[in-house]
Amino acid sequence: MEGAFGPPPDRRDVGRMMRLAVLVKQVPATDKVKIDPETGTMLRTEMEAVINPLDLYAVEEAVRLKERLSGEAEITVISMGPAMAIEAVKDAISMGCDRGYLLSDRRLAGSDTLATAYALSQAIRKLGPFDLIFAGERTTDGETGQVGPAVATLLDIPVLTYVSKIEEIGDGRIVVHRAIEGGHEVVESPLPALLCVVKEINEPRLPTLSGKIKARETEVPVLTADDIEADESMIGLKGSPTRVVKIFYPKITREGEIIRGDDPEGAVDRLIEFLRERGII
Ligand SMILES: Cc1cc2nc3c(=O)[nH]c(=O)nc-3n(C[C@H](O)[C@H](O)[C@H](O)COP(=O)(O)OP(=O)(O)OC[C@H]3O[C@@H](n4cnc5c(N)ncnc54)[C@H](O)[C@@H]3O)c2cc1C
Repeated sequence: MEGAFGPPPDRRDVGRMMRLAVLVKQVPATDKVKIDPETGTMLRTEMEAVINPLDLYAVEEAVRLKERLSGEAEITVISMGPAMAIEAVKDAISMGCDRGYLLSDRRLAGSDTLATAYALSQAIRKLGPFDLIFAGERTTDGETGQVGPAVATLLDIPVLTYVSKIEEIGDGRIVVHRAIEGGHEVVESPLPALLCVVKEINEPRLPTLSGKIKARETEVPVLTADDIEADESMIGLKGSPTRVVKIFYPKITREGEIIRGDDPEGAVDRLIEFLRERGII
């Protein structure tokens, strides 16, 4: 297959450095989300942020693959987000990734999943070629699970979703297990490819002290829309076909009735009546 990356690795490439990329997003630490009561928008700058927990599995798998290849691989982390998202890139470096880039530009603000995927695909074109790209299954804030498959589509490479195990890799191909209802299926794909991994795939490591020091010392270049040669009509609000019409808290109403147990028979009668009134029984 010849896609956006040029010819795939073939037998002549065996033994050369494999180039891996991992997509990570910074998300609000879930229990600390703050919403502006007036506008209903997320107060991102006031929130504690973390690397998307499900992206840790993608990072871990890339690092494990590098170890499996006896270090014959380079791992590049790519994130798109505000300046503070550099921390998510550094977290991935502290776990064993080699380098990282943050895609950050005011012109990218307001990007929906399609515009985000377009910007990431442009960054990948610019920083690649890569043999394998890892993404998480979904994020804990947007939760669409669309970005990984959309990036692969824009790059015109195969996407393997719900990946729970890498069985084999080499000779320009990869064999993986995909988690499906009631079991798993084994799928083979040519490289380059994009994998969206599920959390059953591994147990992410904690960063070591030396990893943390390396991350602190590694410079993370910030790429702008110009650096990735983005078409401005395809990024930000302009490039986003989706619109958030309204954000609201679900109304929790408690119109229940407490039925006391001092008169068990009466309580049962009242309970049955209560359920009948609501058409439950
Ligand atoms: C109209 C509209 C406007 C929006 N405006 C903004 C805005 O101004 N600011 C803002 O922060 N969000 C904005 N969003 C949300 C933004 O589109 C999503 O955060 C983004 O597209 C990722 O979608 P998701 O969280 O569902 O990721 P998913 O598709 O669930 O993520 C799957 C995987 O893709 C990768 N991935 C996803 N996002 C990124 C990323 N940014 N960088 C690297 N890898 C990634 C990760 O590996 C992740 O595990 C907007 C959304 C809409 C619809």
